[in-house]
Amino acid sequence: MNDFDYDALAGRVIFGSGRRREVASEVRRLGATRVLLIADPFDAARLKEFRELLGELCVATYTDVVQHVPRAKATLAVSLAREHGVDATVSVGGGSATGFSKAVALELATPQLCVPTTYAGSELTPIWGISEDGEKRTGRDLRALPAAVIYDPELTLGLPVEVAGPSAMNALAHAAEGLYAKGTNPVTAVIALEAIRVLARHVPLMCDAPDDLEQRSHVLYGAYLAGATLAVAGTDLHHRTNHVLGGLFNLDHGKMNSVVLPYALAVTRPAIPEAYARLSDVLGGDAATSVYALARRINAPASLAEIGMPADGVERAVPLVVAACENDVRPLSEVQVRAFLQAAYEGAAPEESLGA
Ligand code: NAD
Repeated sequence: MNDFDYDALAGRVIFGSGRRREVASEVRRLGATRVLLIADPFDAARLKEFRELLGELCVATYTDVVQHVPRAKATLAVSLAREHGVDATVSVGGGSATGFSKAVALELATPQLCVPTTYAGSELTPIWGISEDGEKRTGRDLRALPAAVIYDPELTLGLPVEVAGPSAMNALAHAAEGLYAKGTNPVTAVIALEAIRVLARHVPLMCDAPDDLEQRSHVLYGAYLAGATLAVAGTDLHHRTNHVLGGLFNLDHGKMNSVVLPYALAVTRPAIPEAYARLSDVLGGDAATSVYALARRINAPASLAEIGMPADGVERAVPLVVAACENDVRPLSEVQVRAFLQAAYEGAAPEESLGA
C-alpha cells in the first residue's frame, strides 16, 4: 500500500428537506449577529423568504451575482460588507453566489454559511476563483472555506433540467478527479466512488422527473460527496481546462464541464490505469464512453461549439492549457492538448475522436 497524507477539512453540514428554515439558528451558532445575505436573484420569492428567515440578523443584501466572480463586482460586495460591519455571510444560490461569499471572506475573514441551490460543490472547498482581464485566477485559502452548509433539496426543485443536468455532471467531474488528482488519498477515493455511484444512478432519474424530491435529494447528496472530494483531492486536467475556457470565453460552467469530461478522462487515462479501472467499474463500462453516454442520455450539450466557444477558441486555449496542466498527473504536449480540445469542440464520441 502507498503512503498518503490526508488533511481532513472542518465544516458543519445540515442536510434535509425544509432545513433552510434553520438558517437563523445556524447563523447564531457561528456567533454572528450582522449578516450580509448574498443571493442569486433567480427567485425573488426565495430571496424574500431568506430575508424573513434571517430577520434582524440580515443587515445588507447583495444580489448582483454573476458567473466567475468578476473582480469589480467582488469589490462591490466587499465594500457593502465593510460598510455594514457584517460579521458573517449567508449565500443562497449556486457556485456563483458561493464564489462571492468567498471573495468577501478572503478580505474580511467573515465566517460563511452557504445554502447551495445547484450541484456546484464550491460550498465544501477552500478554493476561491476571481476573474479579471479575461483570466480566472483560483487559489486555495482556508479563509475561503465555509463554516457551515445547509443542503435543502427543496431549493433545487426549481432548477431547470437543462441547468440541473450539466451542474450534476460538474459534480461527477469533481468525483472523477477526486480519484486521481494529486491530493487524493484512499479515504477520499472511497467518497469519490460513492459520489459517482449515486450521481450515475440518480442524475438521469432526476432529469426524467425533475419534480421528484427524492431524486433531487439523491443528486444533491451525490454532489455534496463530490464537493467533499474536490476539497481534498483538488483538480486535474479537466477542471484546469474549464478554468482556462471559462476565463477566455465566459462559457457556462456546468455545460462546459459536461462537454469536456469524457475527453479529459480519455486523454488522462494512460497516467491513471488503476483509478480509470475503478471509475469504469462503478460506471459499468469504459469511463470516458460511459460519461459521454450519460451526458447524451440527459440531453446535455454535446460540444464546446454548441455552447458558444468561438471557432478560433481551440488555438487560443492550447498554450494556456499546456501551461495549466504541467504539474498534473499527465502533463500534455501542445499536440495532445490541441487534439483534446478539438475533440471537445466538435463533440464526437471520445472513442472515435481520441481513441479512448
Ligand atoms: P451558477 O451559480 O452560476 O448558477 C447557474 C444558473 O442557475 C444561474 O443562472 C442561476 O441564477 C441559476 N440557479 C441557481 N440555482 C437555481 C435554482 N435552484 N433554481 C433555478 N435557477 C437557479 O452556476 P454553478 O454551476 O452552480 O456554479 C458555477 C460557478 O461556481 C463557477 O464560477 C465555478 O467556477 C464555481 N465553482 C467553484 C468551485 C470551488 O470550489 N471554488 C467549485 C465548483 C464551482
